[in-house]
Amino acid sequence: VETDLVELVELAADAFRASRPDHPLTVTPGPLALKLRLDPQRVRQVLDNLLANAAMHTPPGTPVSVGVRVRDGHARVRIADAGPGIPAADQERVFDRFYRVDKARSRDRGGSGLGLAVASSLVRAHGGTIELAAEPGSTVFTVSLPLSLTRP
Ligand code: ATP
Ligand code: MG
Repeated sequence: VETDLVELVELAADAFRASRPDHPLTVTPGPLALKLRLDPQRVRQVLDNLLANAAMHTPPGTPVSVGVRVRDGHARVRIADAGPGIPAADQERVFDRFYRVDKARSRDRGGSGLGLAVASSLVRAHGGTIELAAEPGSTVFTVSLPLSLTRP
């Protein structure tokens, strides 16, 4: 079964707007539709995880953006926030189970440190990757899914 990734992103964006009105969300315009053979529930879980992180780990009012692009044979979903960023030394480790950058602060926020480990294995199960680029004032997670998943 093929799923429209653009529609899946819009559904995740609608759910985010409803649950986190404290973080303004922008959906960046991209393709009108992008049909892939993927597991919609699992990919939705990945999107929800990344959007929840953007809200959970940034102060209220911090803008979040999400968008879909096609590049180099991959669909790329970019989830970005204008929060504090993630120190370079922690950027690889945030994908490890139970790893949180600021343990005291993250515990206050209720995180267990599992979200990115789960998201990363769900994406890898689709033959894709999650990349992270962050600096103070900007955290960008990019989920890449191969377009070769497109045809039956
Ligand atoms: P869980 O997702 O299990 O509820 P969590 O959010 O703490 O808990 P992960 O989603 O795996 O765990 O994230 C790991 C850590 O990476 C977070 O604790 C936080 O320190 C950091 N992090 C993740 N996303 C962001 C972000 N958008 N901005 C700043 N830090 C982030
Ligand atoms: Mg999380």
